[in-house]
Amino acid sequence: MLNEKWISVFNKYPPFLIDISIYGANEKTYLKVTGDGSAFNKLINALDLLKANNLRFALKAPILSINCNDLPEMQIINNKYCKDRLRYSFDMAPGRDDNRKPLSYAIDNLEAVLLEATDELTAKTLSDKALEKNNWCVAKEKGEFIPSHFCFIARSEFHIDYSGNMSACIECNDRFNILEDDFWNLWEELGKYKNIRAFSHNKCIDCDSLYYCKSCPQLRKREYGNEQIVKIEDCMTAKLKKKYYVDKVSLEELKEYYCMKK
Ligand code: SF4
Repeated sequence: MLNEKWISVFNKYPPFLIDISIYGANEKTYLKVTGDGSAFNKLINALDLLKANNLRFALKAPILSINCNDLPEMQIINNKYCKDRLRYSFDMAPGRDDNRKPLSYAIDNLEAVLLEATDELTAKTLSDKALEKNNWCVAKEKGEFIPSHFCFIARSEFHIDYSGNMSACIECNDRFNILEDDFWNLWEELGKYKNIRAFSHNKCIDCDSLYYCKSCPQLRKREYGNEQIVKIEDCMTAKLKKKYYVDKVSLEELKEYYCMKK
């Protein structure tokens, strides 16, 4: 956990942004999620230290079945310390070691969409997306190259961990060590990800819910062995959001749709 020693390093070499994970809004939830209730107070101490030293940081939260009730309070903590709003995600995937236990903590798709709809700012952002168009569909019509990853992997994004392991994004399991090789060699090596062509039958290309979808290709690769195999649960969440924010169906109709498709 972040302490005075790390603060002095950050003061000497100020990072652009420090991302901090928050797992609950009290010791009880922290005990359930992390197995260490005292980690909650350590988090608050770390946030106090960061704020007192004017370091730029942001909070993000994985929302699970065992901490989802804390979301409003986590937002209050966030707003006390950060200018940016709390980023949160409902996505669960197997761990890097192929541990599938995290999947059992995923909350139901409908519950996730309804919870997000109570967050006014997020709901507004999602409603505004209704006007956007799926560019990959247009690219397909023109016969242009369509990548298998629609994200920023190896374009403007890469990840380096505390041991110098460099990967094309934080979720990517292909790793090279920057302490043993030149950055530009590795950047070129990782560049292969952006050049992988999408299958012609890749379901995401023609998808009318793409702009509501947060499905991560590298997490799907970890789960199914191929990043172009879509995850039914991810699709369901995206389609529920599209129905709610674009088609403007009522909550009752949304629940009916969900029960029918489930
Ligand atoms: S909703 Fe499903 S098909 Fe559509 S973009 Fe997301 S993963 Fe692909």
